[in-house]
Amino acid sequence: TLTIAVYFVLMTSVFGDLMQGVGASIKVFELLDRRPEISNTGGKQLPELQGVVEFKHVQFHYPSRPDTKILKGVSFTAQPGEMVAFVGPSGSGKSTIISLIERFYLPTRGKICLDGSNLRHLDPQWFRKKIVLVGQEPTLFAGTIAENIAWACEDATMADIIAASKQANSHEFIERLENGYETMVGERGASLSGGQKQRIAIARAFILNPLILLLDEATSALDAESEHLVQEAIDRAMKGRTVLVVAHRLSTVRNAHQIVVLDQGRVVEKGNHDELLAMEGVYKKLVIRQLASAEQNSSSIGNGVIN
Ligand code: ATP
Repeated sequence: TLTIAVYFVLMTSVFGDLMQGVGASIKVFELLDRRPEISNTGGKQLPELQGVVEFKHVQFHYPSRPDTKILKGVSFTAQPGEMVAFVGPSGSGKSTIISLIERFYLPTRGKICLDGSNLRHLDPQWFRKKIVLVGQEPTLFAGTIAENIAWACEDATMADIIAASKQANSHEFIERLENGYETMVGERGASLSGGQKQRIAIARAFILNPLILLLDEATSALDAESEHLVQEAIDRAMKGRTVLVVAHRLSTVRNAHQIVVLDQGRVVEKGNHDELLAMEGVYKKLVIRQLASAEQNSSSIGNGVIN
């Protein structure tokens, strides 16, 4: 299962990066580097989990580029039931933070703790069952929709799959497909829209019922109908979990308990929306820029993209 999990996340990164198309050769080297750096077995399991995620002065560089520090002493704490949003310019290190929480890499300095225990000493196989990443471009593997929803949870029943799918707003469209949950997707399977794939990925999250939800918000707009259904499903999935989100929407950051503003691998501001606006700093500039571009596109402010 873990192999599938790692494969899935790797494919998600690979696909997302390839689609960007710019600086392709550099990206290819980066992709080759996106593999688990560390052993996948052994380590502690914690008997009871709350879901406190803490970064303490985390420094990090990718193994292939030891001279390029990506994170330069990042600290924050995400409490259970809280949403922490990461914002900042492209390349500031937001996705790297998510990869570190997934434990695909270890910090080069500082530590990341789960309920006070260093992630480095926890059993990765056990830990990864506590987290789910809903990425921008969820990859479906070749198989039925039902298999895709239950991909990391072998004992899920059909009733579990349907319940998760309803929560994720995917049940209706799946039922309308000729073969319903038995429809083949992925390689050479039925093609689904971006919003439909995202809702299947969210259904996976409901099946696993993770303590920690990692979310990489889409930068590109979905059609209005899909947008609404995806957002509603995400809002449901967030309830009662520790949520860490690479945020691109003003509506998300407005709701976040804490916003961590990154710039070139450093935390430059931290607080909630109102506190950060009052600081009249980097965050305020990002928001003003977003509002200006939303006005230009005459799209709604709530759905505007912030980055
Ligand atoms: P974006 O908003 O564009 O997704 P980001 O803030 O999420 O950006 P990261 O993806 O964390 O930024 O990237 C931070 C820096 O790390 C960038 O300079 C990027 O080129 C570099 N980087 C990312 N992945 C790798 C990798 N696997 N190997 C080497 N460098 C990498």
